[in-house]
Amino acid sequence: MISEEEARRKILETIQPLPARTVSLSRALDCFSGRDLVARLPMPGFDNSAMDGYAVVASSCRTGERLRVIGEQPAGVDRGIRISPGEAARIFTGAPMPVGADAVVMQEDITRDGDEIVLNVDVNPGDFVRQRGCDLTEGQKILSKGERIRAATLALLASQGFSEVTIGGEVDVAIVSTGDELLKPGTKIKHGQIYESNSVLLQSLLRCCNATVQSVENCPDDQHSLTEALKRGIRHDVLIISGGVSVGEHDIVKSTLLSLGASIDIWRVAIKPGKPFLFGRVAIPIVPSPQSSPSGRGGPAFAKPRLGRREVPDEGSAASRIGCFIFGLPGNPVSAFVTFLQFVRPAVLKMMSASDGELGPTKVTAESDVDLHNEGERVHYVRGRFEDGKFLTVGRQESHALFGLSQSNALLRLAPGESVKKGVVVELQLWD
Ligand code: AMP
Ligand code: MG
Repeated sequence: MISEEEARRKILETIQPLPARTVSLSRALDCFSGRDLVARLPMPGFDNSAMDGYAVVASSCRTGERLRVIGEQPAGVDRGIRISPGEAARIFTGAPMPVGADAVVMQEDITRDGDEIVLNVDVNPGDFVRQRGCDLTEGQKILSKGERIRAATLALLASQGFSEVTIGGEVDVAIVSTGDELLKPGTKIKHGQIYESNSVLLQSLLRCCNATVQSVENCPDDQHSLTEALKRGIRHDVLIISGGVSVGEHDIVKSTLLSLGASIDIWRVAIKPGKPFLFGRVAIPIVPSPQSSPSGRGGPAFAKPRLGRREVPDEGSAASRIGCFIFGLPGNPVSAFVTFLQFVRPAVLKMMSASDGELGPTKVTAESDVDLHNEGERVHYVRGRFEDGKFLTVGRQESHALFGLSQSNALLRLAPGESVKKGVVVELQLWD
């Protein structure tokens, strides 16, 4: 059994980003930038008015002064107006400043009198003018490789004239839920059976990461069905298996993976809930094509990503996928949830080109409303609610207790032997 930290480190060392691709801005929300980007335009691109009002020469503008209005400058066209001291041009928000003008006086601060205005305020140079490049200069970095693309990032890219952005690869995931006792929701249940709930949990968590779930299967605990389901599953970038990774006679996932040629890098981690967690991988052999092997024989070859289905990867992007990463999560719903957040999520984000700083959960501090002690030898993730700056546990803490999890929004990590007293400040991981 290895520590939680070691398991995460091992997984993240093994996982490599998928080839980057270029997509339209509308498809890039919550993806990660595939490259550094710099501003190609200053922002604003030209000196312009911050208000509806009058463009003026500040040196000729004192309270009570009369100015002659010589033209009108709307947004969107340059009327080529030039003004001199004693003159003004009607101007609107975002319109380019007329030549000679160095300030704008708000329309609320003047009295209009035919072709003239009377100033009700003093005016200083630069008043209500947005200077070219004051927000952003040309060549300034606007997006770092691996940074998450947010709504405002997309707006910034659009304002720079970009219609597309290069992002990390699309992670294609298969889920296989194992267990003879599992029944699809919507059907009539018999005594001893339970409704299958982990696949919808995992699909939803994957959707929050922007991964694409291509296949979801339920599979009984028999060797033949599992072998076939796993064979289908390993055609994807990531295979997540729920259940069957423990030590009972029906837990045949590990041996079945080994029989399919997978390597098991991690099995059993000092984490509660979630001890039987498994991580492995499989390289996918392909039939050599004439191009890859002129003789028609060739040495061992590995499958490229299914590019027909996707965008062509950008040149110079990360190496092509050579197989499938496999995560075996314990079947108990809370264990599946916790191990997904601690191990699968960072791995999936890394495959999507997220930088190291983007891999962890959102963290907040809170005052504990309970006394807690971890007397075990495994890291314990306590579920609870973060509310009004406080943390309190909800429901039962066993790994089957899905109701408590459904009422929670935060995890508190307790190291082995660690105690938390009511009233102390703790760090929480948030997932909502
Ligand atoms: P396992 O890890 O296969 O030993 O399963 C542990 C517990 O989790 C058992 O009580 C299972 O019934 C339950 N379980 C396993 N898979 C699922 C699932 N997909 N949905 C809900 N509960 C499950
Ligand atoms: Mg099972």
